[in-house]
Amino acid sequence: MLLIVNAGSSSLKLKMFDGADEVAQASLSEIGTDGHRIALEQGLAKAGVPLSRLSGAAHRVVHGGADLTATCRVTPEVIARITACVPLAPLHNPANLVGIQAFAALAPDLPQFACFDTAFHATNPDVATTYALPQAARDLGLRRYGFHGTSYAALVRVLSARDQLPKRLLACHLGNGASLCAIVNGRSVATTMGYSPLDGLTMGTRTGGIDGNAVLRLAELHGVQRAGEILNRESGLLGLGGSNDLRALHLAGTPEAAFALQHFTYWAVRHAGSMVAAMGGLDAVVFTGGIGENDSGIRKEILSGLAFLGVSSDAARNDRNESVLHDPTSRVAIWIVPAEEERQIALEAQALLAGEGV
Ligand code: AMP
Repeated sequence: MLLIVNAGSSSLKLKMFDGADEVAQASLSEIGTDGHRIALEQGLAKAGVPLSRLSGAAHRVVHGGADLTATCRVTPEVIARITACVPLAPLHNPANLVGIQAFAALAPDLPQFACFDTAFHATNPDVATTYALPQAARDLGLRRYGFHGTSYAALVRVLSARDQLPKRLLACHLGNGASLCAIVNGRSVATTMGYSPLDGLTMGTRTGGIDGNAVLRLAELHGVQRAGEILNRESGLLGLGGSNDLRALHLAGTPEAAFALQHFTYWAVRHAGSMVAAMGGLDAVVFTGGIGENDSGIRKEILSGLAFLGVSSDAARNDRNESVLHDPTSRVAIWIVPAEEERQIALEAQALLAGEGV
């Protein structure tokens, strides 16, 4: 049995997989940085899984930087590289490292693996990932990386297994964090998130795309740290409509809530146009994530915004959140595929385990 660990600064989400099957899980919140080892023990106890049943642990790591571009075994060198990426993901990577250390303290002899949110986008061409900055600034690692890669890799795996992987796929991961990915023949060629998960779509609490000079103005007025909080935690749907939950915004019935919803779909369509241009056309659209899987109203607005590309959805199927949404006239296939990030991590780590004969 493999343990999948998603460690946040104050939370720990655990899932246990036997092959491709999820067999147990536990979630813990409000834990301090130094409490992860105890939380890990409590989580395993809560899930009823003794350490002796585990063959190893695989961790979701947000940022792999330019070098860590595939799931790998955790070694001292990999830990050093994840640590080197802390400036790129100051909120996430330290927590992921704490998770790795906590498991090592509990089970020093079991193998650990790291799976990176950025890795799937390593296939993006330089022209897509490069910011037009002077060389010295680019040397700091200031470039687009992209995120939600595990979710996109899972979509490619699921569609390939069904023999449905199209040449040009627009993948929409719409949850509290939201991004789009242009996938050609199973490989990412462009994505809406950039240096950090702030860029691209309007999100639960993040602005999405914003001019760098507007960011500088906020930093000038409020200082860098406060500006970061405003941009990442107080903006997006929350900043415009008063909630980061789509369900609450639909129910609110206020002009502000309606505008927030309109902003979300308008910018999803605008960015989708950019992804389609990067692919030179469109064969299929796939939705995943809490919003993508459940919010028929948002999907309907986005899909009608893409009608000019030959996208045509069946309203009744869409209302019922069915897995196939296109109507017979559509030139583009439209699907919902549930997000499978943990299963993807489990399968990738198990493949390494098998290959290593550990
Ligand atoms: P995720 O980050 O993928 O877990 O998605 C979380 C977001 O999905 C929530 O903040 C909601 O906005 C949205 N969501 C979840 N369930 C529903 C639902 N049944 N209808 C509409 N939106 C939903």
